[in-house]
Amino acid sequence: MHLLLNDPKLDKQVISLQHLNPALQNVISCMITKATFKAFFTPQQVDKLLSHQPDIELLLRDLVPLAQTYSHAPISNFHVGSVALASSGAIYLGANIEFERQSLSQTVHAEQAVITNVWLNGETQIEKLAVSATPCGHCRQFINELAQAQQLQILLPLQPSISFSSLLPLSFGPDDLGVSDRLMQSQRNNVNYYDNSNNDYPTNDPLLDSALNATKNSFSPYSKSPSGVAIETDNGIYSGQYAENCAYNPSLSPMQSALICLHLAKQEFSAIRRVILMESSNAQVSQKSASQQLLAQLTDVPLTYLTY
Ligand SMILES: [Zn+2]
Repeated sequence: MHLLLNDPKLDKQVISLQHLNPALQNVISCMITKATFKAFFTPQQVDKLLSHQPDIELLLRDLVPLAQTYSHAPISNFHVGSVALASSGAIYLGANIEFERQSLSQTVHAEQAVITNVWLNGETQIEKLAVSATPCGHCRQFINELAQAQQLQILLPLQPSISFSSLLPLSFGPDDLGVSDRLMQSQRNNVNYYDNSNNDYPTNDPLLDSALNATKNSFSPYSKSPSGVAIETDNGIYSGQYAENCAYNPSLSPMQSALICLHLAKQEFSAIRRVILMESSNAQVSQKSASQQLLAQLTDVPLTYLTY
């Protein structure tokens, strides 16, 4: 058994590796216990892991219990983990996040969390996705927003690898609404913020820059309502980008997206110090009320609402 570290979160993660061979267990433990670890392994780190587990699909499956340790499921107690191999060769982790005293529509599914983790780290494509439970219909629809989704390989527990197309045949997708953009591959939105909506808000603020950048990178080809959130804690800034879906309801709000990043960085919601939501003043779809409601459940920090 690996030496425990008296940090409940890290101890849980180290324990989640105990089914692996000792060499692989050790090398992963060294990586995840570093303060710089942000729920993904760089291509260089993946190469190192492959020297102890040369089968990439087995490696992805091996990491699913680690991904599950990020689950925050106080309502269901059903802990879902998801592990994605991006085209860069990096491996990303994600898990489900539930918010107590909120509507279930605010729930983040593990597949949404891992795709957000991949996207916010600048990736453009996922090649393989391992999950601890079969993806629900909501997630299948969310995944279908990705470029080349139909070729994505899905690794389910105790099953051989299958293509995503066999999980979602006869699918409804962006093409059905005449949209050629895809999540993670869309162009930057043309957003010009002139600080004219709230003149007392400080300019040259890193948090404002993050919210602006997240808005520019957000994906809203259906409503054309770009939006972004940036959250500041004592330890850093976590931004979130709106991810719209052709079937509307599986869309992920920028607040959910930012909270995924904060959570995967092992930050507590109580550590939130400032939050900015940015969107267009005449957006057809607004994130304001849903964001205020979710944030109010997590912290007393008010939402700073900026429009462009
Ligand atoms: Zn799901």
